[in-house]
Order: sequence, then C-alpha cells, then structure tokens
Amino acid sequence: MTDLQGRKDELTANLARVEERIAAACAAAGRKREDVTLIVVTKTYPASDVRILSGLGVRHVAENRDQDAAPKAAECADLPLTWHFVGQLQTNKVRSVVGYADLVQSVDRARLVTALSKEAVRAERELGCLIQVALDADEDGRGERGGVGVGGVEELAARVAEAPGLRLDGLMTVAPLTGDYAGRQQAAFERLMDLSTALRAAHPAANMVSAGMSSDLEQAVAAGATHVRVGTAVLGVRPRLG
Ligand SMILES: *Cc1c(COP(=O)(O)O)cnc(C)c1O
Repeated sequence: MTDLQGRKDELTANLARVEERIAAACAAAGRKREDVTLIVVTKTYPASDVRILSGLGVRHVAENRDQDAAPKAAECADLPLTWHFVGQLQTNKVRSVVGYADLVQSVDRARLVTALSKEAVRAERELGCLIQVALDADEDGRGERGGVGVGGVEELAARVAEAPGLRLDGLMTVAPLTGDYAGRQQAAFERLMDLSTALRAAHPAANMVSAGMSSDLEQAVAAGATHVRVGTAVLGVRPRLG
C-alpha cells in the first residue's frame, strides 16, 4: 500500500466520522443535514491532502496563514473548491489572499474592509465577507485572536455592505477560551445567532453563521450554525501551531 493510499484511507474514515457527528447533531436539533455546510480546515497540511479531500467530495476548505495557503491554493487551482480565509489578516497580505480566497471569514476592522475592497475591485472579483465577532472582547474592543467586539458588528457590517467588490455574507466566531463564555460554547454560539438575527434584519442575504470546530461542532449545530470549520477531526492533530 502506498503512503498516498494510506492517507486516503485515513481521511476517508475521519471524514465519515465527522459526517456522522454532523448528521447526528442535525437530527438532535431537528435540522436538515443540508442546512449545515462542512468546511475542512486544511491549514499546515499539504496540497496532496486537499486533493484527496476534494476527491472524497469536500467542496469547502479553509486556511489561516497566507504564506501557507497561497502556494497550496495555486497547486489546487484545478479543483472545484471554495476557499475560505479564517485567520487574522494583515493588510499587506490582502492582495495575495484576494487572489485565491472566495470568502474571508475574519473581517474585524474598518481598515481591513478598505483594503479588501480595493483589492477585490482591482482583481475584478466579488469577495464574500463574514464579520468575525470576538465574544470575549470589551463591547467595542477587539479580541485577542481577532474579531470585533459585539458593539462594533453593526457598523462594520454596514461598511462591508457598502464597499465595492465585497459581499456581506454573515458572521463568524471562535468560542472564547476566557471570560464569561469560557467552557460555555453553546451559549456563545447562541449569542452569535442572536447577533445574526439582528444583522439579517438590515441585511437579509447575510445569512451565514460560521461557528464550531472539531471539539464543539455539536454545540454550533444545536445553536443554528450554517457552517462548521473542522480541522483536527478530519486531518489529525496538527504537526505545528496553526
Ligand atoms: C484551526 C481553526 C479551526 C479548526 O480547528 P480544529 O480544532 O482543528 O477543528 C477552525 N476555525 C479557525 C478560525 C481555525 O483557525
């Protein structure tokens, strides 16, 4: 058996387990399976894994570092994949990211909106944007791992909606490790859902709710997430910090 075949078997089994978990969570919540989209977070893993996953039917992948993602996306440009960028994004990386990302889920400040808009227009493409919400930030502050505080969501969303080249698609969060929501993932995701309801009153098409990772996808599905972002449970424990 070749290494590639071994890896394919491993990813097939892991993907099947994750699929079972999502299906069970949907059933428990009385939701339709097709209402939840799996995004596989391929950060730190090679393009060969992305290719295997594509062959197994995965259609959405996510990356969090441009240095890692740009060459990988280029190697996989022939595959029918939607690429999500989910990492903290410096404005000097925006041009590169706009070259391959279909959606940026980590929009968390006005300067980034301006830079993304400029590069999307320049590249003549429409870029989907999610506002990353930091539920552990002060109302108007920013989170340690990126994200805008709850009090800043509405204004930032309005900026995205008005920006040429950008499409406001919804909200994203990472469950806080500290603060009021530490250890209370479902409560955190329910808070995100409430923010999504408020957002959709002004922007009905911005209906994506991206929440939940390997350890808490069930809570995210229960709360109403439309997209879960799963890395470790599909690809294995990352060899280095990602
Ligand atoms: C790495 C990452 C994930 C996936 O985390 P796992 O615990 O490996 O499933 C999801 N979302 C973001 C923003 C990430 O950086």
